[in-house]
Amino acid sequence: MALLLKNARVVDPAVGLDAVCDIVIRDGLIAEIGTDLRIAKGETVECAEKVVLPGLADIHTHLREPGREDEESVHTGTRAAAHGGYTAICAMPNTEPVADEGSSVRFLRERGEAEGAVRVYPLGAITAKQEGRALAEIGDMVAEGAVALSDDGHGVQSAGMMRLAMDYVKRFGVPVVSHCEDEALVGKGVVNEGVVSTRLGLSGWPAAGEEVQVARDIRLCELTGCRLHLAHLSTAGSVELVRRAKAAGLPVTCEVTPHHLFLTEDDLTESYDTNLKMNPPLRTAEDAAALLAGLLDGTVDCIATDHAPHAPHEKALEFELAPFGTTGLETALSLVITHLVATKKADWAQVAQWMSIGPRAALALPVVRIEVGALADLTIVDPEAKVEVGAEWFVSKSRNSAFLGQKLLGKASDVLVGGYFALRNGKVVV
Ligand SMILES: [Zn+2]
Repeated sequence: MALLLKNARVVDPAVGLDAVCDIVIRDGLIAEIGTDLRIAKGETVECAEKVVLPGLADIHTHLREPGREDEESVHTGTRAAAHGGYTAICAMPNTEPVADEGSSVRFLRERGEAEGAVRVYPLGAITAKQEGRALAEIGDMVAEGAVALSDDGHGVQSAGMMRLAMDYVKRFGVPVVSHCEDEALVGKGVVNEGVVSTRLGLSGWPAAGEEVQVARDIRLCELTGCRLHLAHLSTAGSVELVRRAKAAGLPVTCEVTPHHLFLTEDDLTESYDTNLKMNPPLRTAEDAAALLAGLLDGTVDCIATDHAPHAPHEKALEFELAPFGTTGLETALSLVITHLVATKKADWAQVAQWMSIGPRAALALPVVRIEVGALADLTIVDPEAKVEVGAEWFVSKSRNSAFLGQKLLGKASDVLVGGYFALRNGKVVV
């Protein structure tokens, strides 16, 4: 069956495309791109005023399966991803049990193929049970399709263990994804260490708790030659360290999250809203400005959500006891449009770079391009749509969003995965 997208603004900087045109999709592939295209049989979708981007990819999603399917699952998490405009996600391995052997990576890959509304690429753990003591079954996991290795949720505390891991992982050609957190510095910290932690009487999580491991892992990248991707950087100092590493030609990439870009520690108030409890924590306005500057000058490769669903009874605990994290898949694109595109700080080509091209390049996922012969993984954006982030907005099984109550501009109206709709007129259809 053929599908004709009419009169869309089609943007893909990887192929130098930014024009109003039509796209014909046949058998899951892009068959034609041009103007005044017609199809003899099939369906035509009017896309005037819409923007078509190469399918967005989130390289930092917690699907919670196996183990905490009460919070999220492959089924619900991939539907949330489609709702947010994504065609692919990477699943973090800190499940119960931890994905630290080949069979657990295979399980998730097969669950993704059977249940996923979007493509699912699993990561495996760096160390067994993510305990930092012995290497996980890295070779088996890469053979089963792990696209990267990460102990996300924890920093690898021993520099020697991290060096051993990077020396070993290098042979497989995949990156290590580092969650940078020095536990001796962070202690029981729950918010950024500074004025706000003092005012609220909460334990501080200092910027240095992240930056010493960023610096360490960049140095180990230099020593071992292993590709390094730094997850959810939150401080100006971390961005500066990556800027210098890239200038030195090291194979380092990094991501920032929407919550670290668009919220700060000043959003924490005496309400002690646990949906604003993150790891790493919300930082200062200067840090958020440095993250954006890093995106704009190419130091930061991509935006990733760190989608972290949590059960209501756990987020309802006191601030110190509640788990870290916010959901993110269903708000990221709208936040980027609201804060960066609508304000003219960024254009659509940059959105494609930060949310589709950059993340795929960082973890060497299959390339998605808007060109004839390519797989039709596409995100169709309605830039003028109004979004109210209420509980009813979410397809995710969890509602712990740091952006609840916000009014945002723009959303994905349609998502095509392999030429088939996963999202249609704003509704998940698979
Ligand atoms: Zn993390």
